[in-house]
Amino acid sequence: MKIAVRMDDITPDMDWERFLAFKEILDAHHVRPLLGVVPDNRDENLHRAKAAGDFWEYIKELQEDGWCIALHGYRHVYATKKGGLFPLNHFSEFAGLSFEEQLDMLEKASEVLQRNGIKTDIFMAPGHSYDKNTLKALKKLGYTKITDGFGKKPYVWRDMIFYPISFMLGRSLKKKGGTTTMVIHANGIDEEAMAGYRRLFEEHEGSFISYGAYLLEAPVKRGFAGRCMEILLANVKRVLVKLRG
Ligand SMILES: [Zn+2]
Repeated sequence: MKIAVRMDDITPDMDWERFLAFKEILDAHHVRPLLGVVPDNRDENLHRAKAAGDFWEYIKELQEDGWCIALHGYRHVYATKKGGLFPLNHFSEFAGLSFEEQLDMLEKASEVLQRNGIKTDIFMAPGHSYDKNTLKALKKLGYTKITDGFGKKPYVWRDMIFYPISFMLGRSLKKKGGTTTMVIHANGIDEEAMAGYRRLFEEHEGSFISYGAYLLEAPVKRGFAGRCMEILLANVKRVLVKLRG
């Protein structure tokens, strides 16, 4: 499969050293990722360094250079224990809240991006969790794309285009057709893991594509069977991750 890359948890106070180290790998292979920007981060776990004063200018420059930007929630604080429609985790910033509450949060989140000159219609849910009210609120605010779900191709479901993420990267790399997404949390990549990514990109040169190219792929319709399989896989993955501790 072809592999697009998304980087989660992009904040002014992220671990810049690790972000830039990963960016160096991407740049070396001419791969432009999707960045999940948290508009108003209040999650202490994501606070890793001194906040960069020129954060928004920098994000804007990356966008002008062809990097894609997604709205990664609002404050990245998990308020509920719901898994929603894609139950990879049983916690969420949005799933389980009322439509009005979610619309209000997402409106404020969008305003932060707009105020800082960033335009996007892509949503990246913190914890991968969203429910039907999240989708309804997003639609109302002009969002059309979600980075989540499982599958071999972008697909349309509930009037949104979903760009699937990889169930298991090793297996995705071996499969023949299709495209998926590798999810990166640069804050948590230590030196050894960074070296692993360097090797991965070298060994699979040609497999990695820019997120912008993924967005150009024509979506297919998601049927009932595909939807059932996705929920099953999400539950399996959640349990596997838990077992691995
Ligand atoms: Zn996140």
